[in-house]
Amino acid sequence: MTITPLMPVYPRCDVRPVRGEGCYLYGEDGEKYLDFASGIAVNLLGHGHPHLTKTIQDQAATLMHVSNMYGSPQGEKLAQRLVDSTFADTVFFTNSGAEAVECAIKTARAYHQSEGGDPQKQALITFNNAFHGRTMATISASSQTKMHKGFSPMLAGFKYAEFDDLESAKAAMGPDTAGFMVEPIQGEGGVRPASKEFLQGLRDLADENDLMLVFDEVQCGMARSGRLFAYEEYGVEPDIMASAKGLGGGFPVGACLATEKAARGMGFGSHGSTYGGGPLAMAAGEAVLDVVNNEEFLEHVRQMSDRIRSALEQLIPNHDGLFDHVRGMGLMLGIKLKSEVRPFMVHLRDNHGLLTVAAGDNTLRILPPLIIEEEHVNEFIEKLSAGARDYEIPEVS
Ligand SMILES: *Cc1c(COP(=O)(O)O)cnc(C)c1O
Repeated sequence: MTITPLMPVYPRCDVRPVRGEGCYLYGEDGEKYLDFASGIAVNLLGHGHPHLTKTIQDQAATLMHVSNMYGSPQGEKLAQRLVDSTFADTVFFTNSGAEAVECAIKTARAYHQSEGGDPQKQALITFNNAFHGRTMATISASSQTKMHKGFSPMLAGFKYAEFDDLESAKAAMGPDTAGFMVEPIQGEGGVRPASKEFLQGLRDLADENDLMLVFDEVQCGMARSGRLFAYEEYGVEPDIMASAKGLGGGFPVGACLATEKAARGMGFGSHGSTYGGGPLAMAAGEAVLDVVNNEEFLEHVRQMSDRIRSALEQLIPNHDGLFDHVRGMGLMLGIKLKSEVRPFMVHLRDNHGLLTVAAGDNTLRILPPLIIEEEHVNEFIEKLSAGARDYEIPEVS
């Protein structure tokens, strides 16, 4: 047998973390890494955060799992807090981002297939280089064919348009259009914030044609942008929104949020999940909100963002063969490189103990825990700067 017990779908690197503390990860032999990847925008309170850890411990000892057959005081509380803090009137809890997006897709379709709807409206327009997850529906929702390979047939009901291009979205519309689904800031696609005009344009098209506007804030949401959700920064509200990643701060929890109108098709028996909304996940979500959902914390995120950005703006001209420009919002930042991003990401990791994430469009993704302080920003800039100095840009063949 040559297959590994862990199904070999990930090309895993030699970093093998066994412990985390604040903004640092530690490997099996005690190697220390500055974690500016945060489990891909998940560990927004860093590692071993006392409030999150204690809340999970206490809830695990009190009640870990019950069926959604029963009343859920825990789910009601977290749902109420999300409703109070967002555009939404109602929430379905999931265990992952892809499941949250699945629920968003179902909610959008069911809107048109319920009373008062137009059942031919079944197709969502999504955008090039989008990432919505790895289930069949969510890979079908993405134009990235590398994720489709080997898994045909794709699910029907998705049309792709150019990201941040309103004319392209308009051109993709037809009588079968159910709505639009978009990441306000593309993550995997290369940390590309949409323009306000684009999102507002989609909002207007949705309003004029009775379509659903779905935001996938799985990565950019939960305080990462410097607002609780990125749409607030744009002043454009969706009808339906998927959240996950940071929502549990490391505990698996996702959510599909919707207005009352948008959720009109989601009645009794229409959807479900064995684990979704369980007491442990709800406790984790509440603990994260306790910390991040206040103006002081959000202001901290924006301040740290400003510090990183201005340090990067200074650094870039010193390495203009390597770095192109900085983009992003809050603590979801990207440095667009002039050469391939992977080798540089690996160099920072292996030679400087700095963890970042490679993204599309040769962009180095900077996703620190939101609890970073100035000392971590300084350490990051030192490591990045040292990494840029002793990096040999690979020859393009
Ligand atoms: C990560 C991500 C997902 C999928 O989340 P999973 O928890 O991996 O299923 C969906 N949408 C966006 C924008 C993401 O970044």
